[in-house]
Amino acid sequence: MEPCAKCDARPVSDVFTVIAADRAARAGILRTAHGQIETPAFMPVGTKATVKTLAPEELEALGAQIVLGNSYHLHFRPGDELIAELGGLHRFMGWKRPILTDSGGFQVFSLRDTIIAVDDDGVRFRNVYDGAEERFTPELAARIQTNLGSDIAMCLDQVPPPGVPGLELREAVRRTTEWARRQRHADRGEGQLRFAIVQGGTDRELRQRSAEELVELEFDGNAIGGLAIGEDRALMFETTDWLAPLLPADRPRYFMGIGDPEGILEVIGAGVDMFDCVLPTRTARTGSALTWEGRLNLRNARFARDPEPLEESCDCPACRTFSRAYIRHLVNQDELLGHRLLSLHNLRFVLELTRGARQAIVSGAFASYKRDALARLGTRTWDP
Ligand SMILES: [Zn+2]
Repeated sequence: MEPCAKCDARPVSDVFTVIAADRAARAGILRTAHGQIETPAFMPVGTKATVKTLAPEELEALGAQIVLGNSYHLHFRPGDELIAELGGLHRFMGWKRPILTDSGGFQVFSLRDTIIAVDDDGVRFRNVYDGAEERFTPELAARIQTNLGSDIAMCLDQVPPPGVPGLELREAVRRTTEWARRQRHADRGEGQLRFAIVQGGTDRELRQRSAEELVELEFDGNAIGGLAIGEDRALMFETTDWLAPLLPADRPRYFMGIGDPEGILEVIGAGVDMFDCVLPTRTARTGSALTWEGRLNLRNARFARDPEPLEESCDCPACRTFSRAYIRHLVNQDELLGHRLLSLHNLRFVLELTRGARQAIVSGAFASYKRDALARLGTRTWDP
């Protein structure tokens, strides 16, 4: 977009407005068909049309503004056409706020053993449910997401594993652009936004090419894909630092698949507006809590007589009522309430961390917010 000659300000896009910036970090408002999202925003993952163990009103009370659904899984079970017949994904799962759906690209390519062949038309694979042979194309990814009626649809991309030879990475970048171009011409749901996904591993030249080609296609937003999949963590942050500014400043930037506290602060600092991860809920199911003391494994005997809440300063339903000792007991007995309480707490923790980051950006204090938070968290291991 051309800057305005009179006021020197850039014209504001209807979809996304940056309301404050602090160095590279931004606070913004993203408008969708089901309401607006204050960014930076963490998106809880509801792969199979449910954020595991939680009801929609609980998610809303935790401060979740948008959730993720997954094209791959919903296409096979219960079927996107069935969901369309029942009024779309929002009605089906009882969630009235925005939904972003992934294209299925990440699932297909991370289930590497199920892939039969990849060519320019699409990818052939066996589905994980009954092993039947399937084919995903950009057109099908568009149709599934139109049927689901998500607010934000993602392009089908080819996600190579970390460390693949340059030639393979180059092919993935080329195909991802070709597929994005095709998906752009496919139908989309009413009011549905569409985001491209930049690939290229940690290779600067390929990332740059991928970004340039996709930016030219003018999607409503741009995602950074193919990171946080097992590459070196410092390299991942470094890549994000130089890659994010290559994506248009007037559109939302989405880092796919990060949700540990340090990672959230790093990508926000690089200028990322949205991110998602199964980490908070998956960590909950392994019996662990995300806290300012680091990751607490509630199975540990040291919590057997601990009358304190998971986190003193937390106002989530788990911390308001229950002790670590009680939650430890639930986890050890594999009681469902234990998984639920830890899921509520872990999501509240990352949503609050993200909300705090937004406030800090608005008041121009993000650098000190990040520094203080990282110092408090220390060097922690967050792997679930
Ligand atoms: Zn809590």
